[in-house]
Amino acid sequence: MIRVLAVASEVFPLIKTGGLADVVGALPLALKARDVSMRVMVPGYPSVKTGLVDGRVVYTFDDLFGGPASIVAGNARGLELLVLDAPHLFDRPGNPYVGPDGADWADNWRRFAALGRAAADVGRGRVGEFTPEVVHCHDWQAALAAVYLRYAEQPKAKTIVTIHNLAFQGNFGASIFRELGLPPAAFSIAGVEYYGGVGYLKGGLQLADAITTVSPTYAREICTPEAGMGLDGLLRERRNVLTGILNGADTDVWDPETDTSLTATYNTSRIRLRALNKRAVEDRFGLKAGDGIIFSVVSRLTWQKGIDILAAAIDGLVARGARFAILGSGDPALETLLGSAARRNSGQVGLISGYDEALSHLLQGGADAIVMPSRFEPCGLTQFYGLRYGCVPVVSRVGGLADSVIDANDAALSAGVATGLQFLPVEAASFEAALMKAQDLYADERVWQTMQKRGMRSDVSWKKSSSHYAELYRRIVGTADT
Ligand code: ADP
Repeated sequence: MIRVLAVASEVFPLIKTGGLADVVGALPLALKARDVSMRVMVPGYPSVKTGLVDGRVVYTFDDLFGGPASIVAGNARGLELLVLDAPHLFDRPGNPYVGPDGADWADNWRRFAALGRAAADVGRGRVGEFTPEVVHCHDWQAALAAVYLRYAEQPKAKTIVTIHNLAFQGNFGASIFRELGLPPAAFSIAGVEYYGGVGYLKGGLQLADAITTVSPTYAREICTPEAGMGLDGLLRERRNVLTGILNGADTDVWDPETDTSLTATYNTSRIRLRALNKRAVEDRFGLKAGDGIIFSVVSRLTWQKGIDILAAAIDGLVARGARFAILGSGDPALETLLGSAARRNSGQVGLISGYDEALSHLLQGGADAIVMPSRFEPCGLTQFYGLRYGCVPVVSRVGGLADSVIDANDAALSAGVATGLQFLPVEAASFEAALMKAQDLYADERVWQTMQKRGMRSDVSWKKSSSHYAELYRRIVGTADT
């Protein structure tokens, strides 16, 4: 049994703003079968503390970045957790990253330095409760753990930094460096220094024993200047320790046979029951009843997700009879764009602004297709949920979307392997063409249903990928030098 501490700012079901939480909540359960004992360290946000079961203090700090703090061990939904309880940093309402005004908390640098610092203490064996051999840091919020550990004395754990989205890097001004408690040498190109400031992700990527990202295609993309977001040079230099491991879906949470958020549960042999969920989607989104295709969107509303491309294509598609059910929240300008598309096309386009986990399940179980016109997509999870629920994914051919959907081109259709549709370039015309093609395929019930069932039978679980992580943990513990 190899012991691994995962460190992250989100974990499903206690705190979630996106796919990161799903991954951090699912991987430990999948790894149990691979002889990996994983604990997850997360900040003690109010919802985390409320949801924690059997919590007990296992370590205390007199002063962790401005106040007393403790590590509380406990569990939730089969996960073993170490919660960093630091009320001065995390006992705040709402979103983990931004305040009520929508702006980043001004002390985010301190909040996530504290997370990294506490995780590094665990990685140094100071918390008798659990001594990991590997500390696995997810995204910039956890990346400083790898930095603290690099400058710590032996014994200590090996480190991995996983990039879930290179767009979020945790870059701060140079003035914070002094307070991080790192040796002066760390403020250099070989450490956390990044364009004159401090880069949390940059430091982690520079100093971790291994780097992973969430799909093989994204691993290649981020080594190029077009997608490397300023870190491509570093990533090219460290290419020998960079691997892409595709995410999976938690097939217990996402199971159309048992899903309590659905009006009707179903499987491949009772796929006709999806029609009941489709009626429920029409009701919830104020769509006129009908048999035509419903395209759904479940997304953060951001430029990355191509929401402007969606908005630009809606009118043309509605004119051909398509309907849209859109669930999302994010950029107010994009919300306004979609809002006016919904008003212009009342009864054909429904928009629900906000975040609603149960409704996201209903959409997968009731809409006909899930569309993702992402400009870049490290992995994406919604397409996996679509496959599993027979909600055919229509996606741009980028990042993890390229790796997880088989395009219904003529060859794939005749070979009987297609599971969805892909398009490039990521712009309105090709997006619109892909949705029109989906509409045509949908018109042939036999072809569509075959594609739905193929997706439902495909393996979107963590089975394969968890074995890649387990191999990586064993490899770095066995061979990586410090
Ligand atoms: P990202 O992490 O970039 O937002 P992913 O596709 O990896 O994108 O993961 C998104 C996750 O968040 C999925 O579980 C999806 O169902 C969920 N999600 C996104 N927006 C919403 C929303 N408005 N309501 C409910 N769930 C949402």
